[in-house]
Amino acid sequence: MSHAVRKDAVLSIQGVRQAVADGELELVQVVRGFLDRIAQTSSLNIYLETWEKESLAEAERIQKAIRHGSAGRLAGAVISLKDNLCYRGHRVGASSKILDGFESIYTATAVQRLIDEDAILIGRTNCDEFAMGSSNENSAFGPVGLPHDSERVPGGSSGGAAASVAAGTCHVGLGSDTGGSIRQPASFCGIIGLKPTYGRISRYGLIAYGSSFDQIGPLSHHPSDTQLVYEVMAGHDPMDNTTAQTELHPEGSDKPIKRIAYLKDCLTHEGLSPEIKEAFQKRVDSLNDSGFQMEAVSFPLLAEMIPAYYVLTTAEASSNLARFDGIHYGYRSERSEDIDTTYLYSRSEGFGSEVKRRILLGTFVLSSGYYDAYYSKAQKVRRLIREATLDIFSEYDLIMTPSTPHVAFERGSVKDPIAMYLEDIFTVQANLSGCPAVSLPLDTNGAELPFGTQFMAPPFQEDRLFQMMKHLEMS
Ligand code: GLN
Repeated sequence: MSHAVRKDAVLSIQGVRQAVADGELELVQVVRGFLDRIAQTSSLNIYLETWEKESLAEAERIQKAIRHGSAGRLAGAVISLKDNLCYRGHRVGASSKILDGFESIYTATAVQRLIDEDAILIGRTNCDEFAMGSSNENSAFGPVGLPHDSERVPGGSSGGAAASVAAGTCHVGLGSDTGGSIRQPASFCGIIGLKPTYGRISRYGLIAYGSSFDQIGPLSHHPSDTQLVYEVMAGHDPMDNTTAQTELHPEGSDKPIKRIAYLKDCLTHEGLSPEIKEAFQKRVDSLNDSGFQMEAVSFPLLAEMIPAYYVLTTAEASSNLARFDGIHYGYRSERSEDIDTTYLYSRSEGFGSEVKRRILLGTFVLSSGYYDAYYSKAQKVRRLIREATLDIFSEYDLIMTPSTPHVAFERGSVKDPIAMYLEDIFTVQANLSGCPAVSLPLDTNGAELPFGTQFMAPPFQEDRLFQMMKHLEMS
């Protein structure tokens, strides 16, 4: 049985707000409706926790504000938070045993900005442990089911976030994307997933995985909701020095899109399923018919992307995760006797196997003797990938690729870690180069399983992505 809802069954945030203002809808009913949906779809294991009382109380307050005309820009929005975003006084655990019982002592800037604009936060969604994975099978709290077919995976690592939207339990799922964790699950779940430019949204309060890659972003059904939530979160934050001062709509951002490069090497990639290839080609043709100049461009560094990504992110992760030592946060092993056994047993028991694999890999590539051969080399490859990507943008307004090589797979069917890493083949380019990228629903296959297409823009040109979303929504 499918638990997926159609896009038209979910009002946009603007739609809810208008209906509440007109007295046609009670915001408490909207939240209750979502809470009922969460209960009906509980077998999918999307939520680790819901904030029922708080969200209903907020609905009462915000409804009054809407009717008084004093509400914030996100009044009417109901949003779920991935379990790696801090929200003061609430549990956060990166879906790991090592953060067992941990409560946030501050709120992530991105989350605070949503709250300040009157968004309602409904609950905390399951994800791959420390955002490492492509299927949500790496959670210490069990896998999440794809709303369209619960035997299949929703993608990862923001699998719960994507499923929370596809199953109709909220307007927007907030996720994070280090190598594809917003766009890949968005593709599997038939919704929109946006990874903003690196530096666009503050990472303060996001549990770090690969700090030079991580970005927070929205997953949703409607382009207008994606844009609204993104714009509220975007902007410089003194708590995160990697956030940029660049204005939201930099010069030239309203220029109409003309030329689009689609990457030949992605289309000839052996893992690409024929149904996606065909639908992609059709989309290229229809964009061409609507007046865009579509050109096939080659990107010879495709094969280097996954190795570079996994060397660099595991290196960063091994450093970021060093703080989980059994002393400062969450879980401590009962076998702890002194400092060494506390570290040893707490980390051995607290981390799952994929996280341990990555800490070991990362420690290895950073170790003396191997640093130059792996870490430094991967940094150089990253620079080449960024330069080659920006080079394409000197001639084209957007880059287009499929989002994923295939549709959602069955739980337990991808056993080889390398095969799982190759899930991100089309998405890591945006993180390696810092560019913004979005996955938009493209079509469904014969079994009604969705897949998406990805558009990438130059840094800080998110507006081009919104322009394309609007075009596709109207055409
Ligand atoms: N699947 C990729 C990984 O496991 C991407 C994860 C992410 O973007 N957080 O690293």
